[in-house]
Amino acid sequence: MAGLWDAALRGEAAVRRAALAAVDAALLEGVLMRTEAEPNASDVVSFAPFTLLPSAVPSALFRQAYAVQQDFNLLVDAISQDREFLERALASTVKVDDFTARLFRIHLQVLEEGLAQSVFLGINRSDYMFDCGAPGAPALKQIEINTIAASFGGLASRTAAVHGRVLKELGMAEEASRLLPNNPSEGLASGIAKAWELYGSRSAVVMFLVEEVQRNIFDQRCVEKELWNRNIRVIRKRFRDVFEKGSLDEARRLYMDGQEVAVVYYREGYVPTNYNQQNWEARLLLERSRAVKCPDIATQLAGTKKVQQELSRPGTLEKLLPGRTEAIARIRATFAGLYSLDVGEEGDKIAATAIANPDQFVLKPQREGGGNNLYGEELRQVLEKIKDSPERTSYILMDKIQPQPTRNYLLRAHSPLKASECVSELGIFGVYVRQGKELVMNEAAGHLLRTKAVEHADGGVAAGVAVLDTPYLV
Ligand code: ADP
Ligand code: MG
Repeated sequence: MAGLWDAALRGEAAVRRAALAAVDAALLEGVLMRTEAEPNASDVVSFAPFTLLPSAVPSALFRQAYAVQQDFNLLVDAISQDREFLERALASTVKVDDFTARLFRIHLQVLEEGLAQSVFLGINRSDYMFDCGAPGAPALKQIEINTIAASFGGLASRTAAVHGRVLKELGMAEEASRLLPNNPSEGLASGIAKAWELYGSRSAVVMFLVEEVQRNIFDQRCVEKELWNRNIRVIRKRFRDVFEKGSLDEARRLYMDGQEVAVVYYREGYVPTNYNQQNWEARLLLERSRAVKCPDIATQLAGTKKVQQELSRPGTLEKLLPGRTEAIARIRATFAGLYSLDVGEEGDKIAATAIANPDQFVLKPQREGGGNNLYGEELRQVLEKIKDSPERTSYILMDKIQPQPTRNYLLRAHSPLKASECVSELGIFGVYVRQGKELVMNEAAGHLLRTKAVEHADGGVAAGVAVLDTPYLV
């Protein structure tokens, strides 16, 4: 896979020219982000970081990732409805991880009260790397599935145009024409629109629940735009706005500033720092409400690392998706080795193996958003320290995936142009809507390719490590 663009990259002048054209194309196409200096203002904005060139993706693996997405949608939806499974899977985690425990308590509380809404909207993104660790062709291995606030569907809808422009600049119009169209914005919005329609009030709005710091607003605006195009009103609110101005009526309809809310689309609420006491109260209010939640709290829990690890136990998928033999085989084929660190013999054994071979594993806490996992020497030290304490159960272990690095340029504002050895991560967006027992929408809604320099073991685009990319199928 190495060397796809070697010929084009030989001339330094050509690379510089292409990089200038690339940045202008990104601004022109709306691949935008607010600046670190002014994260909540749009007066001066910049381009979201991206690769100069598209990255090679094996077409068989690309197709495999698309083909399994509806299965993953079904699986996440099934987990979210299975109270006993979630309870069992997370039993050891909630004892030691306060964040997961608080989410879980809200989950139980809303079930006790009885759900006020029978429409469910799921927007997720299943992420993969191409593993070259074993001899033979690279294999598609799932990194994780994000069931809340899965981002960059908006900007990913616009990067292919930028990379097409770059390839043309470099004299590769033929290659440019092979870049695939990609429009997650439209797919995500059609899920939200469907949920809005099923809610059944034309005057009700869609509420994007957004963070205090909103650097990635343009990614969200792309999805918003598709909703406004359908004449669906969108409002943007933070947890603190909900705490101050949100209310429920006797039928638990949610109102914000007097406006009825049909759908709450969370782009917030996935890490402990998103919450203070008021924000937890706001979250509870939203979960109790009749608004369709994307995701509801059970679906958020279905996306925890602990659940991911429990899914890899023999027989678990069969219980969650009875009779769906082919879907199960497709899902399982993407699993890397995942290991529980629960107290007991199984956990002792794998902890010892990982301490002896730290470079073969990743140690993951129940956190999202990048930069939380531990690798190599750090993994060894931490595991050594916690191996005899219940604290270790707040982590899971995963086999480290070994992708093949390739050369590219990562374009960032105010950064010098230099080549890096890079690896990529492919995400497929899934969208589904369920009404009662009936799945009324189940789709793969587009893709996201993110690429980072190999020296960073961890971290996504928002974390400032990875950049946006476009797959070039080979
Ligand atoms: P987060 O919820 O923080 O995004 P991830 O599980 O996606 O957590 O891990 C963050 C990053 O760490 C990934 O984007 C990937 O670059 C790297 N990573 C995670 N798991 C593995 C793995 N098993 N092998 C290699 N790299 C991994
Ligand atoms: Mg991730």
